[in-house]
Amino acid sequence: MRLPLYYYANTMKTSFRILLLALAGVATATFVIQAQTQQPMATADQAPEQPQKPVTKTDAEWRKQLTAEQYRIARESGTERPNGEVYQTFKKQGGGTYYCIGCNAELFSSKVKFDSHCGWPSFYDPSNAKNVKAIQDPDGSRTEVRCAVCDAHLGHVFTGEGFNTPTDKRYCINGTILKFVPAEVKKPD
Ligand SMILES: [Zn+2]
Repeated sequence: MRLPLYYYANTMKTSFRILLLALAGVATATFVIQAQTQQPMATADQAPEQPQKPVTKTDAEWRKQLTAEQYRIARESGTERPNGEVYQTFKKQGGGTYYCIGCNAELFSSKVKFDSHCGWPSFYDPSNAKNVKAIQDPDGSRTEVRCAVCDAHLGHVFTGEGFNTPTDKRYCINGTILKFVPAEVKKPD
């Protein structure tokens, strides 16, 4: 059976359109993924006011407040890509304080930061211990670290790895959920 020529022409036009749509889709998806994984660490030029009581929000409120990547890590216990932009930024940062992206609680300080070469921001102690809670994984293999104020997942803590630090602990933290305030900024009285 021979189909008229215009049939082929139409089919080709449709295929071309589908191809264009597919390409546009791939481009958009790539852009979204890039935007998520290439997100720099949040910074602020002023120390945030400290929460006075536990912070609880609905899922919808968290989704509104946090970026998709922050939400994935803080609320779904995700992990950021190692050696990503956040980690590169972290390595270059000078003195300062790290706050929780979810509730502004002070978590870590540059004074307890060290280079563990693991690809994630590392600290050997929290700067405000009451804001950081450790929870043993059910199988006992790892110890998870969460914000004690808003229950955001921060990362994990490992002990006894032989690092030359005062505690021999490595708080392996997702930089995506930290907000950095440089030291030269004065804390509110
Ligand atoms: Zn928090």
